[in-house]
Amino acid sequence: MARGLILKALSGYYYVIEEETKKMYTCRGRGNFRNKKLTPLVGDQVEFQIEDHDEGYILKLLKRKNSLVRPPVANVDQVLLVFSAKDPDFSQHLLDRFLTVIEHVGIEPVIIVSKIDLLEEVEYDKLKTLFEYYREIGYTVIEQSAKTKANLEHVIDVINGNISVLAGQSGVGKSSMLNAINPEFNIKTDIISKALNRGKHTTRHVELLTVYDGLIADTPGFSSLEFLEMEKEDLPGCFIDFARIGESCKFRGCFHINEPKCEVKNRLGEHDVYDKRYAHYSKFYEELKSQKPKY
Ligand code: GDP
Ligand code: ZN
Repeated sequence: MARGLILKALSGYYYVIEEETKKMYTCRGRGNFRNKKLTPLVGDQVEFQIEDHDEGYILKLLKRKNSLVRPPVANVDQVLLVFSAKDPDFSQHLLDRFLTVIEHVGIEPVIIVSKIDLLEEVEYDKLKTLFEYYREIGYTVIEQSAKTKANLEHVIDVINGNISVLAGQSGVGKSSMLNAINPEFNIKTDIISKALNRGKHTTRHVELLTVYDGLIADTPGFSSLEFLEMEKEDLPGCFIDFARIGESCKFRGCFHINEPKCEVKNRLGEHDVYDKRYAHYSKFYEELKSQKPKY
């Protein structure tokens, strides 16, 4: 029995890379996971039987650490959340919204600020405080430029050894970043053509691309930033700084909205970035509160 990882799923075929030889096998599913109505996903670790020299069938899916719906990928280690420093302008509101959605799914976000070559010095000074704040609360923030190749080695470091999903608005430089790292393939066409074709074609295929020693899904995720599957009770945990500070609030389960002796609110006025984050938090709270009940 061989072991491998599904790199691509298309029309009932799974393209599995064998872990020792790194050889690719085209597989069909035959294992009893089919009785359990489990669909093999890109990113799944599998046991498979080799039938022919490059064909086989999957017998078993190994236990997943997690799985995403859009894009359908299993065992995601991190989300590379790309934000341009400029063009389009950096938006802390959008950053906090993305972080909330990603934290709710429970996958680690890595903040990547792209196009830093476009910033004037004064513009950079302003944003620097913001980047520092997010680093202080525990996020990795990488400031890079696909154009000048500044700090791309740090992007490679976080990619290596991991399965990553990209996120970020279109036009922020996701494909440029990957192409600057891996000039031998052109990702642009793939990411763009998929975005355009979505909905038109029923077969939606996802592929994990090998970038250095890591794997990256060729379809960006988290494009819908509505809090569809979230309840307001989920929100405090999605702001990792407030979650920590909130341990000192008087009331357990404090929402940091109207409660007295709230430590999160007590700290307002100390740091501009913190205050803005709190404003976004309150806004998201209101959105979640006014959501229609789901059943
Ligand atoms: P995607 O939609 O997120 O994949 O974004 P693209 O990679 O297609 O980039 C959008 C636009 O930003 C293109 O015109 C790129 O040339 C430009 N761009 C991307 N990265 C950089 C960068 O590091 N510096 C500059 N100046 N422009 C960039
Ligand atoms: Zn509180």
